[in-house]
Amino acid sequence: MTGVAVWALRARRFTAVRWPTWVALATVAVLAAGVVDAKAASEGDLVAIGWMTILGAAVLRALGRELTRPADLLPPPAAAVQEVELAWVLVAAAFVLPAVGGAHRESVYPLLYALVSFLTIVLRSRIAPWLSVAFAVVCELAVARGTGTDRAQVVEHMVYLGFFALGNLLVLRGVVERVRRHHESVVGETLERIRRDARDFRLIAAQLPLASRPRGREEEEAFMLQGAVETIHEQLYHLLDLLRVSMGLHTCALLWVREVEASVEGRPTAHLVLKEAASDSEVLVSTPELKGPGILAAVVRDPKPLRLAALGGRRVPPYYEASDGVTDLAALPLRDGDALRGILCADRTDDRPFDDDEIEVLCRAAEHMLRIVEQERVFAAVERGKYEQEQFYRASERLNEALTLQDVYAKTFEALSAIAPFELAAITGCDADGSSHRVLAVRAAESADPAWRALAERLEGHAFDDGRGLVAMAIKNRHHMPAAPDVEGRRPVVFDDDTVLPGVKSLLVLPLVRGESVLGTLVLASEVRGRYGPATREMLKVIGHQVGVSLQNARMYQAMEERATTDGLTGLTNHRAFQERLAQLHALAERTGQRFSVILTDIDHFKSINDTYGHPVGDQVLRRVAALFAGRARKVDIVARYGGEEFVLVLPDTDGEGAAHVANKLREEVAAQTMTSEHGSFKVTISMGIAEFPADSRDRAELVRMADEALYHSKESGRNRVTRYATMGRAAKVG
Ligand code: GH3
Ligand code: MG
Ligand code: MG
Repeated sequence: MTGVAVWALRARRFTAVRWPTWVALATVAVLAAGVVDAKAASEGDLVAIGWMTILGAAVLRALGRELTRPADLLPPPAAAVQEVELAWVLVAAAFVLPAVGGAHRESVYPLLYALVSFLTIVLRSRIAPWLSVAFAVVCELAVARGTGTDRAQVVEHMVYLGFFALGNLLVLRGVVERVRRHHESVVGETLERIRRDARDFRLIAAQLPLASRPRGREEEEAFMLQGAVETIHEQLYHLLDLLRVSMGLHTCALLWVREVEASVEGRPTAHLVLKEAASDSEVLVSTPELKGPGILAAVVRDPKPLRLAALGGRRVPPYYEASDGVTDLAALPLRDGDALRGILCADRTDDRPFDDDEIEVLCRAAEHMLRIVEQERVFAAVERGKYEQEQFYRASERLNEALTLQDVYAKTFEALSAIAPFELAAITGCDADGSSHRVLAVRAAESADPAWRALAERLEGHAFDDGRGLVAMAIKNRHHMPAAPDVEGRRPVVFDDDTVLPGVKSLLVLPLVRGESVLGTLVLASEVRGRYGPATREMLKVIGHQVGVSLQNARMYQAMEERATTDGLTGLTNHRAFQERLAQLHALAERTGQRFSVILTDIDHFKSINDTYGHPVGDQVLRRVAALFAGRARKVDIVARYGGEEFVLVLPDTDGEGAAHVANKLREEVAAQTMTSEHGSFKVTISMGIAEFPADSRDRAELVRMADEALYHSKESGRNRVTRYATMGRAAKVG
């Protein structure tokens, strides 16, 4: 859809709905023309009162719309338009009001200033306050023109207006903005801290761009990580505290190595942070980042246990702000293969050097700590996997449940939006040789831009030939298209040249393969870059496979159902399905009081047709009559083969007289047909009987029996005729 067309569409919707806006704008014209003029108005001025009534209605309409709008459900532009509308009609009303009471125009200004101040505070959209001030200025200019107010006074009004509006806008909005930003930064910092911890413990790969993932998923992952991080901290703290108490330590601390990307020699440099500590000290570092390894430099260089004694409080471990009288220190590296992950530190202030047994215990503790982190890392990976598997599981479950085609389409879109969000998704089908295509179903995301939604509307059922589109290529190559899903600025042809996707940045077309054949494609398009990366694509391929299976199942199911409900020879509804449909219609009629008629039909002397021209010709006659009935029926009518050469029609909302009219026309048309065979041509006639609900009977079975009786009467009285049960002679009825 072109930009112009989109704007035209928006403009059309706008003019259709926003009549209060037009009333506000018309007020400007009325004021400028001086039609409504406070100075000239006397009390009870009809023009002013009339115009104020219109404005009042507009205010009520705009206010009603604003009050009933679901909070935050409206996309921002639509909400702004609504707010502007309300503001404008209110301002317009304020300008017209004094003329109604015959008051002097100057009396409007206090009210106007108050109104503008009020609007600048309550209107939530960014642009609405500015537009309402602008509108007040326009009204002011219109009044000046209409009444010939002198310029000095107009300028004075403007200055006041500006003062009130700007004061509110800048001061109040500034305050609100500051509070909001503060709140956001607090939340952001907390999230960032969790991420940093998770990264330190390698719960997530440092390169994994969390931000590029779909929102719901990112939140879920952050939530999961928070749990993992908290568990690690808890377990580590318990272990450190246990060591401290049992070994009589001053501090037992776990330092962690954080890799810092920038380095002098091109190698990442190790940077220590205090992860967790159990301590009696009051001078531990206040921020986790340590300035440097200090006396632990030897361990960082060469990860081996380090024992220092008789420090005399002079050499201070790096996790203290100031000397805390540490005399003995043990430092044990936490090693993961060759890499140093952290250092477990234990210190005392009572001149008791660490003996070999203690070092051994600390070594074991260090190993255990590494295992705790490792366990959580595996756990986080499993959780992540579980999340993905769950999405899969749910998606395939949904698809497996789908029986009808419509159901398959709906479930497919549900599954897709859980795995790979889109602005537009479509399912296309193709004929056996893959040369002509059709959009079977299409869905635009609810939050998508109007241009996407307009395109979705146009694509519904869109048929197109094999061309240079990606859909055709994906089918031909049996491979997803395009090779790189990032298509920003490339305007790719997906379906055909007439349907260009607006502002697409990520695109994926997957073939729906079933064994040897390709059924169609799955198309996903998004305005967000990097949506359909390799991992997502793999998941989508599995879903695509499942969609293929479900589609085929649904088609099979549909065909089976058709076979079960239609008559093989004539293609009409068969006897069993007729009884079901009649029961439905009858139940509905019982509820709503709607009438309907039943027409039973039997071909005259059909046995002799069979005998004279042969059974196949008899079949041919049955098909001809059936086609004629089906061709004349309305969509709501039931046309069924009742038995051998008997047909039944049910006409909803039709009384006996109407049914007789229809029946006679059909009878005449059949009689007018000439049937041909090897043994010459011949004519066929039919006899019909009619019963009507509820006039003849309310009972379903009895209605059919009555129609049959009427049909018998037609046969008895010479065939090739129509009989209504209601108008049959009494004697015939009893007989
Ligand atoms: P009437 O005017 O009284 O109805 O005379 P009729 O000869 O039509 O009598 P009847 O209704 O008893 O005959 C029905 C015949 O229709 C009997 C049967 O052989 C024939 N018939 C039933 N089903 C089929 C079918 O599927 N194909 C063909 N060719 N004939 C069928
Ligand atoms: Mg018969
Ligand atoms: Mg017959």
